[in-house]
Order: sequence, then structure tokens, then C-alpha cells
Amino acid sequence: MLMPRFRAILDTMPGYRPGKAVVSPDGRSYKLSSNESPYDPLPSVVEAIAAGAREIHRYPDPAAVRLVRALADRYDVPAEHIALGPGSVTVTQQLLEAVGEPGVEVVYAWRSFEAYPLLADLAGVTSVRVPLTGEEHDLEAMAEAITERTRLVLVCNPNNPTGTVVRRAQLTAFLDRVPADVLVVLDEAYREYVRDDDVPDGLDLYRERPNVAVLRTFSKAYGLAGLRVGYLIAHEEIASAVRKVTIPFAVNHIAQVAALASLAAESELLERVDRVVKERTRVREALLAQGWEVPPSEANFVWLRLGDRTAAFSEACAAEGVAVRPFHPEGVRISIGDPEANDAFIAAAEAFRRSL
Ligand code: PMP
Repeated sequence: MLMPRFRAILDTMPGYRPGKAVVSPDGRSYKLSSNESPYDPLPSVVEAIAAGAREIHRYPDPAAVRLVRALADRYDVPAEHIALGPGSVTVTQQLLEAVGEPGVEVVYAWRSFEAYPLLADLAGVTSVRVPLTGEEHDLEAMAEAITERTRLVLVCNPNNPTGTVVRRAQLTAFLDRVPADVLVVLDEAYREYVRDDDVPDGLDLYRERPNVAVLRTFSKAYGLAGLRVGYLIAHEEIASAVRKVTIPFAVNHIAQVAALASLAAESELLERVDRVVKERTRVREALLAQGWEVPPSEANFVWLRLGDRTAAFSEACAAEGVAVRPFHPEGVRISIGDPEANDAFIAAAEAFRRSL
């Protein structure tokens, strides 16, 4: 029987596997699997969304002029240097599509953000994965992996799922080695959770170097994961290439008004981030006290390298209603939630430890 035909690459692609919620037999459910904000949306943001709902019979502003202007003011960059997308994952896809041609190579660390290999495959580029050393980027090896076919390098800082960071001296030395015609994309989805002063702000590097682009998102610290808004800041040629590779009206009206309201309420949102950072310290210390090895995290999650115990640990957490994110066969990433969810996770980790 004849069947519709698709690209061969789809046969080997696993597809993105999102974090799921789980419920314990006694009805408890804590979702620590998608690095979301544990807080309810701010009332001011909900009000902006309700007001925006009265305008949804119209298409959104395709250029999102007000939001782009607000971001340009916030970061003191020209509006032309900003490209918005429905989530920074989509902006990453646009970047890969913009450089993507057969034979083109894209270099990134592995393990890193799960979407990179999928998006690279879809864009028809060759992924060059450089193994982490320990839990950290090996920037030396990444510099060596660059060839004349490389058009783009992704550096996830802090890295998802390990929470580790690349520091100023390392990153600067790396950038000095990258040819000027190779684009370095600093994926800073978790930037707001960084407390280590030695981690450079990607925007400082973009200001100094025309081949550096920064990705940020409203999904994590700003709590808008459900609305999908992310953006790139880069020099005009890069931002404009990304803007060309978009579907029209990609960032919807509600997302635009909610992002604007979130920028207006930024100090309140960043206080919440402070609380998550405190909880991150508490969770890590509790795990260390239980005897786990936990790399220091600068993001809103922690990482346990569990190897062949990855599945058993995730299942033990799920039985207690705690959804964590297994990355087979390396380990488990646990998002930092509210204190109650974190307590439930700490107890599940302790019980697992004792059962060994
Ligand atoms: N980059 C990294 C490193 C991430 O972990 C995520 C979300 N898991 C994203 C980008 C995508 O975020 P969003 O598309 O929600 O903006």
C-alpha cells in the first residue's frame, strides 16, 4: 500500500520527551521535571493577560514593537539586535535553520539541552557533540572540534542538565580561538539564577564581539513557560537572519502582553528567583549530607549522575509523587520547586539511598 513519505531523518529521531507530572498512590504530585517556576503568575501579569484577551480577534503585532522596545531599553541594546520567538527553543531552531545546509557542522557539548540534536537533525546540519569533562563544558576540545565546515557553536551556560557553568577566563580564551565567521550562541535560559560572579554575562561578550549571540527566555525566572516567549540578542546581521526564518505572528498577543507586564514587575520576579536560589542551596546541602555527589548548580535544578541507577531512582521518586527528569543512561535532573516539593524530593532521595 502506498503511504505518505517523510524525510528519512525522522525514522531515527526520538522526538522531544517533555517532563511529565506523576501522582503518588496517596495522591501527592510534585512536578520537578521541567525547570519551571514553582510560583503562581503575578496578579499584575494575569490582569495584563485578561486585558489582552479583549484584543485576540486581531492578529498580534508581528514585530512585537512594544516588547522589543522594552527589551532594548532593559538591556540597553538597539531594537534591531533583538529577535523574538515562541520560546527560545524556537529561536534556536531558527538559528539552525538560518545556517543549515548539507555539510554544515554545529558544535555543542554533550550532554546539554536535549533539543539541540533534534533541531540540528531537522535543520539538516551535522551535530558535532563534544563530551563534557566531568560535568562541565570542555571548551578546549570544543575549540579543537571547529573545522571550516563549522558555522555555529552552542554553549549552554549554565548547562542543562548539569547546572554547571563556564567562567569568564575560560570563555574568553575560547572565544579568542573561534574564527570570526563562526557564530557562538550562548544559551542563557537560566542566567537569572547565576550567583557566581565569575560567570560572564553573555551580553557583555556580545557587546565586545560581533560573532556572539545570546539566547534568553521568559519561561524560567519570569514564569511564563506556558506562553512561549524567548529572544535572541545579537548584532544586526544575525538578528535579522533569525527574524527571516520565522513563521508570521509566531509570538502571540497574550504572550507579548504578559512578557511586557513581567518586565514591568521584574523586581518582584527576581525576588522569587532569590528564593529558588536559597532552596537550591538547601536541596544540594541535604543531598550532600545524604552522601550523594552533587555538582554545584547555578541554575534552577540539580543534577545527580546515577548511571545505571537512573531509572530506579526516577521510579522511586515517582512513587512518592515527585516527577524528576531522567536522562538515560547518565543521570537525573531535579528542578528546584517550592519548599514542600523540595522536602518531598529530599525524603524520596533519602529513602532511595537507604534502600541501596
Ligand atoms: N535553553 C535551555 C538550556 C533550556 O533548558 C530550555 C528549556 N528547557 C530552553 C532553552 C527553552 O526554553 P523556552 O523555549 O521555553 O524559552
